[in-house]
This record gives sequence, structure tokens and C-alpha cells, in this order.
Amino acid sequence: MSTISNHMPTAELQALDVAHHIHPFSTQEDLQKKGARVITSAKGVWLKDSEGEDVLDAMAGLWCVNIGYGREELAEAAFRQMKELPYYNTFFMTTHVPVIALAAKLAEMAPGDLNHVFFASSGSEANDTNIRLVRTYWQEKGKPEKKVIISRWNAYHGSSVASSSLGGMKGMHAQSGYIPDMHHIDQPNWWSEGGESTPEDFGLERAQQLEQAILEIGEDKVAAFIAEPVQGAGGVIIPPSTYWPEIQRICDKYEILLIADEVICGFGRTGNWFGSQTMGIKPDIMTIAKGLSSGYQPIGGSIVSDEVAAVIGATEFNHGYTYSGHPVACAVALENLRILEEEKIVDTLRDDTGPYLQEKFRSLAEHPMVGEAQIIGAMGSLALTPNKATRAPFKAETGTVGYMVRERCFANNLVMRHVGDRMIISPPLVITKAEIDILIERAWKSLDEGMANVK
Ligand code: PLP
Repeated sequence: MSTISNHMPTAELQALDVAHHIHPFSTQEDLQKKGARVITSAKGVWLKDSEGEDVLDAMAGLWCVNIGYGREELAEAAFRQMKELPYYNTFFMTTHVPVIALAAKLAEMAPGDLNHVFFASSGSEANDTNIRLVRTYWQEKGKPEKKVIISRWNAYHGSSVASSSLGGMKGMHAQSGYIPDMHHIDQPNWWSEGGESTPEDFGLERAQQLEQAILEIGEDKVAAFIAEPVQGAGGVIIPPSTYWPEIQRICDKYEILLIADEVICGFGRTGNWFGSQTMGIKPDIMTIAKGLSSGYQPIGGSIVSDEVAAVIGATEFNHGYTYSGHPVACAVALENLRILEEEKIVDTLRDDTGPYLQEKFRSLAEHPMVGEAQIIGAMGSLALTPNKATRAPFKAETGTVGYMVRERCFANNLVMRHVGDRMIISPPLVITKAEIDILIERAWKSLDEGMANVK
């Protein structure tokens, strides 16, 4: 076979891709018909494709490239670490400097007494760890029957069998089964499900479903509640202000461990270091990944409280991945955190570019097809509707309008994602005001073109 490189014609690369590569969340038919876009390099918020087009990545990859693309310091950190110690594990009484340094750094950054980290290579693995952590915790406390974990419909917690069971994506459950002792309550999505309620009443009502579920299942059987501070893959759903305080009250009252899945919200995405700070909650466990290394290396983890660590520490935790605390991934994550801190990227987002992005993004609600533009920090969503007053969805036979708009964005060299008829953004946190203007201009144009196709 000839050498496959960036210099090959796009069509040849696409043909080889569809012949041999199984893509996540894509259909073979689409790949065959349209061919996957081949991304060849990237800098800042800009992707370059194999046709030489510059594409504004308003999704930071998969919500992860918080510091932007092309930071050579991270490549150098990986190179240095690979030369010194490319791999060693942390099983059976060994450790190494990068994992020690990263765990200590995360303990310093994480709020409250979240001072102990178990590492994984992804958010899915970290949430699998959480299932085992909370069950071990309750076993050690003499309550092995506390096993049930409560989550929400339309939550995303990963793609492994356990983490997808924890998540509330029905399509995923239908395809690969569902592990026992998981229970789902409804999401706080006021736009789609709030009916005539005010957002505040609706937020309270949805939070109180947690209490009802605990009472139905039995307090003595419920181990934990898990949720994303702001639902990401479900469509960037920012809960009403009444939601999280009520959830916290219920977790405290029934002594249910609270797991904040910060895989998207962590490391600045909501305008603070962690979404838990933005939402004013005190989790016992936090799931982290994505922004931890800005996606430059696969790394995730669970940060747990002093109390959880003390209980787990009383036994041998029979759990671990070959790449838990991988030295190269840890070195890259440390360099990423250094850049985020020293360049005040989170502060700039909170005080300067964030408010600008939010104002511009909210102006998209003036588009005739946009009912609501919700944004917090640098994660936002547009609810597309044929009727702003009733918040009605588009009819099924119209096709997914979100998909059509997403296709128009892609053609206009803007990566936005759609979840049904919600259009979402999550750009690199380093996006500039001039780039925000381009994002908004291309989004508006794509909405116009999408609307022209709605029958
Ligand atoms: N949790 C949340 C909130 C996520 O958004 C994701 C991925 O998008 C995951 C977990 C799974 O992370 P990974 O894809 O790294 O396994």
C-alpha cells in the first residue's frame, strides 16, 4: 500500500476511511455518500481540512480543547516525559513524579475537601470507576445493599456499558443493554418539558423527583445521584436556578453521595474552574476528563472527598486501568493547567470574552427560527422552533431541522453540533472577540439557509 499522508487527494482518503474505519456516532450510509471531512491541522480555534479550508471549531473538538489547538508547550512536555519515563503504572505499590504532581495540583484546584484522585484515560472510564467507588464505599460502611445510582434521562456519562447505563440516552440503552441498579428521573429541560410552569417551579418539581425516587426505591438502597452541572451532550440544558439547591438539600437529607460529572463543565467551561462552583454545589465525587489535558492526551479521573477517600482507603480497592495515571498524559495535563492558570484563560473568559460571547450568542434569539438562546460561560444552545410563543417542536416529517442547520454550518466552515432541534456551541476558551463575531455571523447565515429548506 502506498504511504497514506496529508498529501493524498481527499477522495482517496475518504474512500480508505469508509472502507476500514468504524466511526463513533456516524452512519456508514452518510460516510459513503458524503465522505468524512478530513482535518489535517489546527491552530487556536481554527481547523484546516484536506481541501485547505479554514473551519472555525465552535465545539472545541468534543468540548475539550479548552486552551485551543497548536500549543507546542504541550508537545514538548509529552516529548520530555516520553524520553524520561514513557510509561510506568501505579499498581502494586509504585508511583512516579508526574502522577504525584498532577494529583496534588488537582487537590489544590478542586473545591472543598475534594483532595484525592483516581486516574483513568477517559470520562467513561472515570464514571465506571465512580460506580465501583460508591458501591465499595457503602460496603465498607456496612451497607452493601446501597447500590442504586440515580441519574437523569438525556444525561450523558459515557459510552462503556456501565457509563452508558448511568447515562440516560435511550438510544444507547436500546443498542447495548443496560446494567441493573440504575434509575433515571426526568431532566430539568424547561424549554421542551416545562409546559405552563415557570422555570423556577419546574426546576423545583424536577429536583423533587429525586426525593420521590429515593422514597420509592428506599433510602437504604440508594448509593448516589450523578448529574452534569449543566447537561452537555443532551443539548446544553442550563437548569433553572431552583434546581441545584433542591438537589443538594435532598442529597444531604438522605445521605446520598453526590457525583458531579464535570467532564465538560470542568476546567473553565462555565466561567469558573468547575461547574459545581458555578451551580453552588458540594459534590462528594467529581468526574473529570476533556479540559484536564485540553484533549491533547486521553486522561480522566475521579476526584473524591476526604471522607470518601478515608472509607475506600480502609480496604484494597480492586480497580485500576493499565493507563491510570499515565506519566505522559499527566505531564501534558500539568502543562495544560499551567497555561490555563498563568495565561488567566478562565479569568479572561469570565470577565471579558465570556460576557461578549454571551451577549452576541443571545442576539441569535432574534432569528425567526430561534426560540431561546441559553448560554453560560462558553457553552450555549439555541432551541429551534416554528413557534416561539408555544415553544412547539418542528414536526417529525420536517426532518431534523437541527441536522439541516448543522449541515449548513459545516458548509459555511463553522463546526456547531445539533441535538435534535437544539444547536450547540462550546468553543475553545481562548476564542477572541473577532472570532466570536465570525462565529455569530456564520451561525446566523446557516440558520437562514436552514430555514429556507424547512417545508
Ligand atoms: N461525561 C460527560 C458529561 C461527557 O460529556 C462525556 C463525553 O462527552 C463523558 C462523560 C464521557 O467521556 P469520554 O468520551 O472521555 O469517555
